[in-house]
Amino acid sequence: MEAYKVQQHNYDVIVVGAGGAGLRATFGLAEKGLKAACITKVFPTRSHTVAAQGGIAAALGNMGEDDWRFHFYDTIKGSDWLGDQDAIEYMCREAIPSILELEHYGVPFSRTDDGRIYQRPFGGMTTHYGKGTAQRTCAAADRTGHAILHTLYQQALAHDATFFIEYFAIDLIFDDEGVCRGVLALDMNEGTLHLFRGHSVVLATGGYGRAYFSATSAHTCTGDGGGMVLRSGLALQDMEFVQFHPTGIYGAGCLITEGVRGEGGYLTNAKGERFMERYAPSAKDLASRDVVSRAMTMEIREGRGVGEHKDHVHLNLMHLGPEVIHERLPGIAESARIFAGVDVTKEPIPVLPTVHYNMGGIPTNYHGEVVQKKGDDVDAVVPGLFAIGEAACVSVHGANRLGSNSLLDLVVFGRAVSHRCAEIVKPGQAHKDLPSSALDKALSRFDGLRHANGGTPTAKIRANMQRTMQDDAAVFRTSESLQAGCKKISQVYDSFKDVRVSDRSMVWNSDLIETLELSNLLGQAVATMYSAEQRHESRGAHAHEDFPDRDDHNWQKHTMASVDDAGKVSFDFRPVHMYTLTNEVEVVPPKKRVY
Ligand SMILES: Cc1cc2nc3c(=O)[nH]c(=O)nc-3n(C[C@H](O)[C@H](O)[C@H](O)COP(=O)(O)OP(=O)(O)OC[C@H]3O[C@@H](n4cnc5c(N)ncnc54)[C@H](O)[C@@H]3O)c2cc1C
Repeated sequence: MEAYKVQQHNYDVIVVGAGGAGLRATFGLAEKGLKAACITKVFPTRSHTVAAQGGIAAALGNMGEDDWRFHFYDTIKGSDWLGDQDAIEYMCREAIPSILELEHYGVPFSRTDDGRIYQRPFGGMTTHYGKGTAQRTCAAADRTGHAILHTLYQQALAHDATFFIEYFAIDLIFDDEGVCRGVLALDMNEGTLHLFRGHSVVLATGGYGRAYFSATSAHTCTGDGGGMVLRSGLALQDMEFVQFHPTGIYGAGCLITEGVRGEGGYLTNAKGERFMERYAPSAKDLASRDVVSRAMTMEIREGRGVGEHKDHVHLNLMHLGPEVIHERLPGIAESARIFAGVDVTKEPIPVLPTVHYNMGGIPTNYHGEVVQKKGDDVDAVVPGLFAIGEAACVSVHGANRLGSNSLLDLVVFGRAVSHRCAEIVKPGQAHKDLPSSALDKALSRFDGLRHANGGTPTAKIRANMQRTMQDDAAVFRTSESLQAGCKKISQVYDSFKDVRVSDRSMVWNSDLIETLELSNLLGQAVATMYSAEQRHESRGAHAHEDFPDRDDHNWQKHTMASVDDAGKVSFDFRPVHMYTLTNEVEVVPPKKRVY
């Protein structure tokens, strides 16, 4: 192995990722007087959060009655009773101060006539525990993520946080006692290696949507944090729950926000029927995403799809009129024109369910501390390690996330991590020396991949993985498709041993970076497929046709999946938290989920 020179940098806290979650944590830490470094592989404002359109949920009640307890109830029902109720309570209560803070930091929200934050209805959001419709999603037109991300980056710069931009985090570094002590990263500009030491390391690396062929997420969403966690021998949670957004543009995969249906848009089949009326008589087009995606798939399967191949449906917003479209949905009109060649004031948009969000991820408690099951302790904290945002599984979204609850999750738990670190880390505390072998495993893996000289190009292995996931871990699953999927994805995993990296340089070497990303994706693809195969029930986004009902008796529990270096998966389970933090809310017991 080549001898690598590794430069060391000491900070109080290291944040990996500069999306909404990473930036909220970074600036919160700096604000609390901690020396914080944020490492990011893309420029902060290019993180996938920038693409979030529809908005961010909080029961402000600006446009009609609302209460954070209704939000709590809706989120539990949306999660199909797999969400942890203590964490959901925390998120829905803290939503209100978190959004008001964002407003004060300068997020340019759309406004009501009397100057308050504009709020639109979103799927699964109700008043009075399922009775009325709540207008809970705070929006900056259809560019809410863009507005939030830019504001948070400005705030982080205004405070004394240090950014390491276009640095690629490779692996977590632990000491012999299993305490996370830092991160090894590659400066892609200079081609140098760096060890970032921190008393806490916060993973805010986003989702792994790119394990699939067609996804609304950016090409950078490769689940690097989850990959690092698996390699550290830790388990990921609830990986079988992958959200398909009902309205990806047919062919292109780009997202058309649920906000379109919130503003009155609706879906039709080849007969021009508003078919959602049959599947969700009361919420109709604003039922939860899993419900709408399944309904669309059934319409297409039964021959009522539109287009030459009858393989998609239509989203109509012509009736909203040019003014509403121009004021509330300008980005959508542009996306539809560019990616579908459609003028939304005159024609419907061709849409298809598209992979959108990972409910599963790195398990944490509501402080953002990573937890594992250790013997009888089902909530054992991994010292020094935190995870937030889409990389994490708190779990507030359970088996299905409600639209506009992710941006909320980013800011609430980004903020929670900064509170927690301020409690446990003393500014300027000295770093203990690491054992001399601490970097060995990470360096030798990096070197091995850099010099990988097999017969299969990275792009080919990635294409096989994405096809397998798309075909066999889809909206509907069967024992047959999942068993075949497990076999195929294990073969793809094994084929990585034969990967070829053609360029050995360390400067702007996309072949090397894409190979590192692929290795992160592969572990999560395997965890997803096997987790789905072993869950013999249907819940939220996991629709298993051989087990069409939810089975609370046997399956109201979190799947914990570990993947060893050889790609072998092992399982354990954690109970769902069926308790609350205060008596201001009551536990919502499981019941049938209808919209
Ligand atoms: C098109 C689209 C629209 C959406 N709309 C909404 C919406 O309206 N409302 C809502 O609530 N949710 C929405 N979502 C979901 C939500 O936007 C995402 O879940 C959320 O933005 C994820 O934020 P994050 O901070 O966790 O990660 P990201 O924003 O994905 O950022 C990840 C960060 O990690 C860094 N990173 C990753 N790997 C490494 C590495 N190895 N080394 C260094 N840095 C690394 C990246 O550089 C980046 O800065 C949408 C998602 C998509 C895809």
